[in-house]
Amino acid sequence: MHIFAIANQKGGVGKTTTAVNLAAALAQAGQRTLLVDLDPQGNATMGSGIDKRALTRSVYQLLVGLQPLSEVRLTSPAAAFDVLPANRDLAGAEVELVDLDLREMRLKAALREHHDEYDFVLIDCPPSLSMLTLNGLCAAHGVIIPMQCEYYALEGLSDLVNTIKKVHANLNRDLKIIGLLRVMFDPRSTLSNQVSAQLEQHFGDKVFKTLVPRNVRLAEAPSYGIPGVLFDKAAKGAQAYLAFAQEMIERAKSWESAETTAKGGSSAS
Ligand code: ADP
Ligand code: MG
Repeated sequence: MHIFAIANQKGGVGKTTTAVNLAAALAQAGQRTLLVDLDPQGNATMGSGIDKRALTRSVYQLLVGLQPLSEVRLTSPAAAFDVLPANRDLAGAEVELVDLDLREMRLKAALREHHDEYDFVLIDCPPSLSMLTLNGLCAAHGVIIPMQCEYYALEGLSDLVNTIKKVHANLNRDLKIIGLLRVMFDPRSTLSNQVSAQLEQHFGDKVFKTLVPRNVRLAEAPSYGIPGVLFDKAAKGAQAYLAFAQEMIERAKSWESAETTAKGGSSAS
């Protein structure tokens, strides 16, 4: 099971769009996938075709220990992946978690019991570095960072990279940056191309090969409760997320073979 947090403390950078479309694309490729909505806005829930206003249980109950994962998860009516849904109730978890034991580790503990049921778990984080995001980062093996190629993108990135380093040092030795995903990309913009080249220079193969273009069909899909990759398969945005899923599956294969080698070999580092 590969667990990835999709994080960037900035809002509106394409986290939820990436989480929902990657989940749907992985599911379409036959991967057993769970999408965790950790944002009280519930956009990933709605984008998966689940009405956040009609939830009887949500990831809130899971985090505070009132319900097990099996009672909270739903299957997306639009695609073949499972969802731990969220709505405004989750905002309360922030306060309540403070008094609980191992408050950063609640999601990790819940997922551990289901580790052989999924190939990929994607966690859609809220636009903050809060206790909810911390639960996402502690549960994850890696972080996928969606970003727009604009001037201030690099500045925000250093805060996030520092947070990931701190979590790695203090709470989760497994955590690493899997990659930066360039989203809402405009190939005709000189600035987009410059920032994109800068990213490749600084981060090398931590920059995913897939580029997600700005594409209105991806923005329209959530209002129909259908992931963009299914809403209009032929659209450029959908094609990009389908390619991104293949890129993730390829990477997952290479980690798995590296793991097998390490286990068979003498020492692990
Ligand atoms: P976040 O979760 O980081 O706040 P969202 O995924 O909700 O960001 O995206 C913010 C807005 O941008 C949404 O209205 C979404 O539909 C739109 N959007 C995201 N990615 C794209 C894209 N590649 N092309 C066009 N619109 C996009
Ligand atoms: Mg979001």
